[in-house]
Amino acid sequence: MNRLDARTTAWPHAEAEVRRPVAEGGRLWHALDAADVLAALGASPKGLSPDEAARRLRAHGPNRLPEHAPHSALRRFLLQFHNLLIYVLLGAGALSALIGHGTDALVILAVVVINAIIGFMQEGRAERALDAIRSMIDPHASVIRDGQRLTLPADEVVPGDLVMLEAGDRVPADLRLLKARSLRIDEAALTGESVPVDKAVTPVPEKSALGDRFSMAFSGTFVAAGQGTGVAVATGAGTELGRISTMIGQVERLATPLVRQMDRFARQITLAVLVVSALVFAYAVMVQSYTLGDAFMAVVAIAASAIPEGLPAVMTITLAVGVQRMAQRNAIVRRLPAVETLGSVSVICSDKTGTLTRNEMMVSEVVTTGGPIAVEGVGYRPVGGFQSEGRTINPFNDRILEQISLAALLCNDSDLRPADGDWIVIGDPMEAALVSLAIKAGHNAEASRSHHRRLDAIPFDSRHRYMATLHARHGGETVAYVKGAPERILAMCDRVAAPHGTWPIVVEEWHERVQRLAARGQRVLAFACRSLPEGAADLAPSDVEHGLTLLGLVGMIDPPRPEAVAAVAECRAAGISVKMITGDHVATAYAIAEDLGLADDPKAVTGHDLDELDDAELRRQARDATVFARTSPEHKLRLVEALQADGSTVAMTGDGVNDAPALKRADVGVAMGRKGTEAAKEASQVVLADDNFASIVAAVREGRTVYDNLTKVIAWTLPTNGEALTVALAILFGLTLPVTPVQVLWINMVMAVTLGITLAFEPTEPDAMRRPPRSSGQRLLSGRLLWRIAFVSTLMVVGTFSIYAWAIGRGLPVETARTMVVNSIVVMEIFYLFSVRYIHGSSLTLQGVLGTRAVLIGVATVVAAQLAFTYLPVMQWIFDSRPISAVDGLVILGLGITLLGIVEVEKQIAARLSGSRRTA
Ligand code: ADP
Ligand code: MG
Repeated sequence: MNRLDARTTAWPHAEAEVRRPVAEGGRLWHALDAADVLAALGASPKGLSPDEAARRLRAHGPNRLPEHAPHSALRRFLLQFHNLLIYVLLGAGALSALIGHGTDALVILAVVVINAIIGFMQEGRAERALDAIRSMIDPHASVIRDGQRLTLPADEVVPGDLVMLEAGDRVPADLRLLKARSLRIDEAALTGESVPVDKAVTPVPEKSALGDRFSMAFSGTFVAAGQGTGVAVATGAGTELGRISTMIGQVERLATPLVRQMDRFARQITLAVLVVSALVFAYAVMVQSYTLGDAFMAVVAIAASAIPEGLPAVMTITLAVGVQRMAQRNAIVRRLPAVETLGSVSVICSDKTGTLTRNEMMVSEVVTTGGPIAVEGVGYRPVGGFQSEGRTINPFNDRILEQISLAALLCNDSDLRPADGDWIVIGDPMEAALVSLAIKAGHNAEASRSHHRRLDAIPFDSRHRYMATLHARHGGETVAYVKGAPERILAMCDRVAAPHGTWPIVVEEWHERVQRLAARGQRVLAFACRSLPEGAADLAPSDVEHGLTLLGLVGMIDPPRPEAVAAVAECRAAGISVKMITGDHVATAYAIAEDLGLADDPKAVTGHDLDELDDAELRRQARDATVFARTSPEHKLRLVEALQADGSTVAMTGDGVNDAPALKRADVGVAMGRKGTEAAKEASQVVLADDNFASIVAAVREGRTVYDNLTKVIAWTLPTNGEALTVALAILFGLTLPVTPVQVLWINMVMAVTLGITLAFEPTEPDAMRRPPRSSGQRLLSGRLLWRIAFVSTLMVVGTFSIYAWAIGRGLPVETARTMVVNSIVVMEIFYLFSVRYIHGSSLTLQGVLGTRAVLIGVATVVAAQLAFTYLPVMQWIFDSRPISAVDGLVILGLGITLLGIVEVEKQIAARLSGSRRTA
């Protein structure tokens, strides 16, 4: 019944089941030598020139899989008719025509067609919104062109491009590998093999199966570990993935658990209504001696008004509106169910650096054997002096400061570039702050880098928490520089740099110094070095994990984001607890947690502590502690599981490839859009465009709004079967029908296409973030909601019969009485809409009365339609309506106001009752 089948924002091949292609033409790149591949592709180790790349892009087209052709507009329009109720109505129309009720048949046809047109337009809107959002998270690729490393949208990669890969990347094209360092690739998307494959650069036999082509990296697979470089041999549809893309151009329906729940419910109602209608039909003919034609029309009217045929579509649009609003708040929903789950989140586990903090780092202190040295300056601008014990020092006279700042510059993958008066960070902000430090200390970045050619590197990994580089000095000496988490580095050092030569290290002293820096919220890094035998060209972990000489510590400030402070406070008001999960030092994390106000008395535990706990104790710690420091990605998974076992609905952030299991496991996995890897994005349901904690909270707020709005849509839509009840009761008691069947169809059409949809656009209610999260098992159709639906339906039936009786009692013709009934029903529904707009609060406020633009447009349309219905001769001819007097109009208005009043009183009483139940 849910007719909307837009694709979700997931990449089409994401979860698709994939089989291996049977045969292929193409070249056997995997069997050729790397040099031959480069030659064959006209590529060089420096990469293509921009002109050549542009030419190839024109020749080969963008590196994209062919779009799965969307359903044609005609097909989508016709699909609108694929709905049980519509079939019933069309059947009824045909029968009416057969038995000579020409006008009725036309009305039914008009209802069906108008319904389809509106549905078609609304769906188009929802689909366009989702399309626009999907393109916001298009993947990127790192390529070398003209000797420069650049980041490009992945669809601009062309054959012959040199592509660099690192852990977490999604391989953008089919690559013949030229370099591979511990490179392991997860090829599940292509081969179904879940264990990552070790890659190498040596050619493999021609006949190798796809999974055995170790010299290749295939488009759409993910780098699980290591680094590599490859030359693109095929892009877009020419890739292995492209060959099978016809099989995986799978369309996911725009459906979520709640929509499915309602879909099922709507189907059940439909069946029940059809059964009841059949009974009423039999009763009308046999007991009340209706003619077959009249009984049939009455039953059609009952069915049409009682079946909530538009409900799933309106719910889907409500969700789409939510997705759109979240995107405006920088939270991009990749999997639709997240829209609902976000509203029930009770714990948010967040990274610290860059999410809760600004990630605008500055080195403020350097500690060497000589003591602490304060670093002056503002932001990344590499200008500022050094002070020791209040006296300015000259960095050129301090040998250790010179060494540690050189290490900071060399053991570094990032850079700073001047840009009109400001400095922009290329790469990691923390490393850029280190470049700034080195320049302040007098190093010329370019010159120093070329004097110390980098031979090899061990990249940073949040599991081992250090990074090392190997450099050849001009004199021929070979030195390794290492930087990382102090505990880690100190354990690898046996000496420390002194003004002249080195001293044995006293590790405890250094731990104390680390503690002092960290307690002030500073991020602390330790630097060390080691001379290696001349001629060493590779760096292995065993080369740097012992025998290092400590150069000193560097303390960096990274202030909390001001908006995160506000967002944390909002979470606490909303009953959501916020946990900080970080790889950073426990004292640093604790200090930042206090600045953010994460808890009144935050409790901190370390990853090491967590390792010691059994399941029950872990669950308790997960609930009670606020700061989890020195954790590795594995701890995230354990924490999510512990929190879920404790009954929480968990949102978890992540960025690295190792975070993927925790992101998948969380109720809402949230990946960082900027610093996150493609693997993390792929595993998550939501991507944050700005990496900002406040955006998660904004998404939660929108999630709650969506849930409220879904409730409103249901609460407003279901009582419309009041008309059905009216007709059924009239037949039961053998009364004249207070509304004719075509009039019921008219009401049904006018309402469904105008008012119901306005609820999808309702803004957040003021108290949305001041209530506790709803429990995740809560049903949309709660007892409270069912009661409300029954209550309002009854009121409407009573109102309808009263108006009718009153009009007839005054001697008005039955046609006029019926016109008054139709207008009363519409007016009551309008006033009820205003009541429904606030589930929890009173609607009788200025804001409540003024409504939103959508509501006002909806109401204006209905009013115009009703005026036409009542006073236009054509409409009078079609619907047998009559003009009504101004006084009667006022009475009808009064009826609506009375309904609103009663429902508001009921709302207040119910709120008191549930309030006293909660406090009791
Ligand atoms: P966070 O949770 O703050 O993002 P990370 O996992 O990124 O923590 O880092 C954990 C620790 O590893 C940091 O406190 C720091 O000591 C060290 N570290 C982080 N980035 C680097 C890097 N690029 N090179 C060396 N060490 C790093
Ligand atoms: Mg980090």
